[in-house]
Amino acid sequence: MYKRVGMQLEKSERDKLKEIKKRLSELSIDFQENIIKDDGVIWFSKNELEGLPDDFFEGRTQKEDKEDGQVKYEVTTKYPDLFPVLRMAKNGETRRRLQVFEAQRCKENVKILEEAVELRFEAAKILGYKSHADFVLENKMAKTVANVEKFEKELRELLEPIAAKELEDMLELKRKDEGAKGANVDDCIYVWDFRYYLRLLKEKLYNVDEEKIKEYFAMENVVSGILSIYQEMLGLKFIQVDNSSGWHKDAQLFEVYNSEDKSFVGHFWMDMHPREGKYTHAACWSLRPGFERADGSRQYPVSAIVANLSKPTPTRPSLLKHDELVTFFHEFGHLMHNICSQTKWSRFHGVEVERDFVEAPSQMLENWCWEPEVLQTFAKHYETNEPIPAEVVTKLVNAKNLGAGLLNLRQIFFGLFDLQLHSLTSSPKVNPIDIVKLYNDLRLQISNVHSGEEETWQVATFGHIMGGYDSGYYGYLWSEVFSADMFYSRFKVEGLKNKKTGYDYKNLVLGPGGSKDGMDILIDFLGREPNNVSFLKSIGIY
Ligand SMILES: [Zn+2]
Repeated sequence: MYKRVGMQLEKSERDKLKEIKKRLSELSIDFQENIIKDDGVIWFSKNELEGLPDDFFEGRTQKEDKEDGQVKYEVTTKYPDLFPVLRMAKNGETRRRLQVFEAQRCKENVKILEEAVELRFEAAKILGYKSHADFVLENKMAKTVANVEKFEKELRELLEPIAAKELEDMLELKRKDEGAKGANVDDCIYVWDFRYYLRLLKEKLYNVDEEKIKEYFAMENVVSGILSIYQEMLGLKFIQVDNSSGWHKDAQLFEVYNSEDKSFVGHFWMDMHPREGKYTHAACWSLRPGFERADGSRQYPVSAIVANLSKPTPTRPSLLKHDELVTFFHEFGHLMHNICSQTKWSRFHGVEVERDFVEAPSQMLENWCWEPEVLQTFAKHYETNEPIPAEVVTKLVNAKNLGAGLLNLRQIFFGLFDLQLHSLTSSPKVNPIDIVKLYNDLRLQISNVHSGEEETWQVATFGHIMGGYDSGYYGYLWSEVFSADMFYSRFKVEGLKNKKTGYDYKNLVLGPGGSKDGMDILIDFLGREPNNVSFLKSIGIY
C-alpha cells in the first residue's frame, strides 16, 4: 500500500507524482465533458429512416431541407437515437452515415488520451513498475498482464469458430436483403450492419416478442418473487418496518434476520419508483458498513437498493421487460453481498473486493432469471394468472445466446486494446503509438467487423478508458467467466433450492467481503481453481 502511493520516494519524486495525478484527473474530466457537451446532429428524411417505428418520429425536431425541399428529421448520437437507427433502419446508407458521424466526434479527445497514456506510464515508472498495467493489476485478482493475456487468448481461440458462423449467417441475410434491392453488396459486415443483421437473425430464428413476454412480469409479482427467492436461497427473513421515515415516502425499510437462529443481520432500504431529480439507473449502495466494534459487539450494515420501475395505476399494471428483471436481480445480489458480509474491519465490508471480482457474485445470480422453474414461481400472466410457459423461457435463452461469439470477441477487443495501450514498457514519447490506428486495427483483427473507408476515431468516445477502467476493461468478461463457473458447477448440479449450496454461497462467497482474495473465495466455493468451461457451455459452445 505504501509503495503504491509513493511513500518511499524522495520528496521531489513525490511532488512529481502529485502533479501527474492532478493532471490526469483534469484530463479525465475534460475527456468525459467533451463527450457530454458534443451535441452534433444529422438529418434524415422519413424515407431514409424507413423501418423505425412511429413513436421514433413523435415530437422529433424537423425542418425542410433547402436543397431538395424534403422534410428532414433530426437524429442525435445519443443512445435513444443511435441504437434504434442502427438496429432498425433498413437503409444501409443511413446506418453508415450515422455510424461514421458518431465515430468522428470529439477528435480533441485523441490528444487527451495520448497525454493520459504517457502520464500513466511515467507515474508507473516513478513508483517502480514496468508499466501502468503492471501497477493496476498488482492488487487485482488477475495480478499480472500475462494472466490477463492468457485469459483473453484462450477465450478468443474458442470463440472464433462460433463467431465465424454467426458472421456467415449475418452475411447471408445481408446478401439476400441488399441483393433484393438490386444493390451492389460488399461481402463483409460493417460496424453499421452489425446490430441490424443481428436483430434480423434473432427475429428469423426465435421470433421473441418482448411486448408479449412483459405480460408475465407484473412489477409487484416480480419484486415479491425476487425477495422470496433470496430469502430462501440465503436462509434469511426480511421484515418490512412500518412507518419508516427515510429520504422519501417511497423508500421502504426492511430488517434482515437469519431464519435458522433468528439472529439479526442488518437493514436495507428499497426505493423502487422513478421521481423527478432521482438517480435514473438501478444501483445498490452501502449506507453503513458492518464491522466489529472495539468492545466485540457488532455494528450491523445498512444498505440501499434504488430502481426506477414505474408504479402501477388503478387501471394499468406496471409490466417489466425481462432485462429490467435481470438488472433488479443483479443489483439485489450486490445488496445481499453488503448484508451478508461478516468482516471484522469495515474496510473489507461487503462489495469492497477486488474490482475484477466485484461483479461475479451478482452476475452469478442473474442466472436465476433464465431458469423456467424459477420464473414460473412468480412470472404469471397479469390477466390469466397462467405461469410463463417453459418454451417461452427457452426461446429467451436461445435469443440471448445468439451473437455471443461476436459480442464476446468485441469485449475481448476492448480488453486487449486497453491492455496494449497500458502495458507499454517504453515511453510513448520515445516510441510513439498511433492510438487511432491501434484501435481500428485491433477491432478488425479481433472482432472481424469492418469500419469502412472513411477515416474515423471511435476511440475518442471510449469513455471507460478515461473513466477509471484503464487496465481494467477485461474485468467484465473475467468476472462473468467465474460467475458462470460458480453457477454451473454448483447450483445447477446441486439444485437451485439446495440449502447447503445456498449456505456455502452465503458464507464462503458473500461472507468474507474483501478480507479474502477473490481467487481464494472461488477455490473455497468450487473446491478447485476456476476455469472457463462453464462460461463457454452457457453461451452454447461445447
Ligand atoms: Zn453490478
